[in-house]
Amino acid sequence: MITVVGSLNMDLVTQVERFPKKGETLQGTSFTTIFGGKGANQAVAASRLGSEVEMMGRVGDDPFGHSYLTYLKQQNVLLSNVEPVTHFPTGTAAITVSEDDNTIVIVGGANDAMTAEEVEKGKSVIERSSVLLVQLEISQKAVEKAIRLGKESGVIVILNPAPFQAFPSHWWELVDYVTPNEHEAAALRASADFHSDFEKKLIITEGAKGASYMINGNRELVKAPVVKVEDTTGAGDTFNGALASGLDQGLPLQDAISRAVAAASLSVTALGAQTGMPDKEELQTFIKGLSL
Ligand code: ATP
Repeated sequence: MITVVGSLNMDLVTQVERFPKKGETLQGTSFTTIFGGKGANQAVAASRLGSEVEMMGRVGDDPFGHSYLTYLKQQNVLLSNVEPVTHFPTGTAAITVSEDDNTIVIVGGANDAMTAEEVEKGKSVIERSSVLLVQLEISQKAVEKAIRLGKESGVIVILNPAPFQAFPSHWWELVDYVTPNEHEAAALRASADFHSDFEKKLIITEGAKGASYMINGNRELVKAPVVKVEDTTGAGDTFNGALASGLDQGLPLQDAISRAVAAASLSVTALGAQTGMPDKEELQTFIKGLSL
């Protein structure tokens, strides 16, 4: 079983022909709401691949929050510790997209109510898990509490350091794997307290190239298949959910990474973050097709 402790956001996506000037009101061309937030995205990715997934996070007691919970139930994500809170609205990401650019404004809202004390309430859930997956869209105190509980319970702890922010160096002792993309990896390695020993915990996603990990003292690249790219949004989330799912299902690290690379590469062939996340059968068919 996988526990994901993280964010749930409603993405509010407006399409425009051009961006408004300061103070200007402009007609957009379309609007849509999409379920997002790195925590929930990764929970859905893992669940689609057949793992039992328990989500811990917070939404507001509002229409976005309620529809998110209904949706996650439909995705077979268990919600024993996702409570609607009344003092914050559901987290939102207001995304404006033009043909060649976008802007994103995130309001954490209820995600900020996922405090260390609230994580502690889910201690027994973490203890029952085989894998714990966390990102950096909730407070560092909450993340630290989760990874400490994970470490104490002997759970495999994966930290996806996104969106990037520096974190305390003692976290490296509490986690088994850290999964940055190339930019995040460069930022981690550039930090003053980065130690060469940490390198063996780094599984780095490298976009169209694939993902790399350390084996016998060398960094090895698991190559991504060449695909027709439609939308890379959520590729990293699919990778992390699939990696957690592979490890949860007992795959050796190398196989779990290969499967995660395949799942993420398949996900970029469809529009939308969660829409493109494959289920187990779709992934198996895709992998079979690659080896023909
Ligand atoms: P995002 O922020 O867009 O979710 P990310 O920067 O966290 O992504 P990436 O390193 O870009 O993560 O991609 C994660 C995985 O997705 C890669 O390891 C690869 O398997 C797959 N992927 C991403 N882009 C491509 C591509 N152009 N072609 C094939 N696979 C891709």
